[in-house]
Amino acid sequence: MQRIMREQKYKPACVVWELTLACNLKCLHCGSTAGGRRARELSPAEALKVCSDLKAAGCGGVALMGGEPLLRKDFFAIAEKVRELGMELSVITNGTIHGEEIFSGLKRLAPRAVAVSLDAADPALHDRIRGMKGAFEKTSAFIARCLREGLPVSVITTVHKLNLKELAPLRDLLKGRGIAWQVQTAGAEGGRFSRDLLLDPEEFYAVGLFIESCRREYSPEELPVIGAHDLGYNSLLLNHVSLYESWEGCQAGLSVAGLRSDGEVFGCLAMNDGRFSEGNALKTPFREIWNRPGAFAYTRGFSRETAGSNCEGCLHLDVCKGGCSEMSLMKTGALNNDPYCFCSLEKQLFSGELDSPVKKIKDRLQSLADRSGYHTLGRIFSGKRKKKDEA
Ligand code: SF4
Ligand code: SF4
Repeated sequence: MQRIMREQKYKPACVVWELTLACNLKCLHCGSTAGGRRARELSPAEALKVCSDLKAAGCGGVALMGGEPLLRKDFFAIAEKVRELGMELSVITNGTIHGEEIFSGLKRLAPRAVAVSLDAADPALHDRIRGMKGAFEKTSAFIARCLREGLPVSVITTVHKLNLKELAPLRDLLKGRGIAWQVQTAGAEGGRFSRDLLLDPEEFYAVGLFIESCRREYSPEELPVIGAHDLGYNSLLLNHVSLYESWEGCQAGLSVAGLRSDGEVFGCLAMNDGRFSEGNALKTPFREIWNRPGAFAYTRGFSRETAGSNCEGCLHLDVCKGGCSEMSLMKTGALNNDPYCFCSLEKQLFSGELDSPVKKIKDRLQSLADRSGYHTLGRIFSGKRKKKDEA
């Protein structure tokens, strides 16, 4: 084992594990169209064995998600095993399942993050997107209770046309509460989501501008907000969107992996159809799948020749490798060709390839971030600076 670890070129810093596909909600944008369990999901004993296999592969952290992971009766047995083995733990939940034992259990686990999905500040809209009346109320209560328990709460917002205008109200709802906010864009893999709801390029860029404006207006303590992997890259103007200062390309199979509830292993759960399965953790120990020569060829074996028209010739290509693999596939049918990219949008913008881009972006900004940035500038330039304790 020591020898394997020394030779291991790639280390799985984080494995995102779909514990079950069962879910009590019916979210529009759910990429796995969760609802019912998969025909074959890991038994409690198999799940505990997989925990040990992940550790043996050098896995640093595990993010338990679903479906809704708290629907699994052995959720805490699996989560405790992860912690016992010394791996970090994150939990991604829709926040609608409550119970004293859940909050006390989560506290006991000392997770790195409890991430809760919240898609709108308008309760009716959140409920509509999540497919359950009363979801907003339950999720809000879950977040409040986690905060009272001192748990590290994150909110994940998935943006599409229906909730684009909710970013500013969500910012107002979340700021100053010690909640980390991750904004991501919806893909169209799931069966309940219409491609008509995908963001236009200008809307995508406006989301980046919104995050940038938040980051400039609020300190990381007041509003810790980031764009996920699919919100970037290499912008000339937007330098405060991601968690990291520089984007080093899709990490599927390089430092992250996805594990489906039936044991299938992927580089990323966002790309969890059979084409990208690297093996099954029930049949082959995870570390063998992870270390197999030739595995995760689409990232480990990247070559410039595979870049599509959006990325070919880009000076960032060797590092970026064409953006988010999932977004690239979903939008263009090919890898290494992500059109949702700040860098390529700025190139189009400046060479005038998009239809009236400046006007469209201004319109979007007006509706999205009407109180971000400008009112602060107005206040500062008119000499009305807030004292620190009024912020
Ligand atoms: S154009 Fe492609 S390679 Fe260049 S930064 Fe954008 S996604 Fe990356
Ligand atoms: S496919 Fe996209 S979301 Fe998945 S690891 Fe790569 S960049 Fe991240």
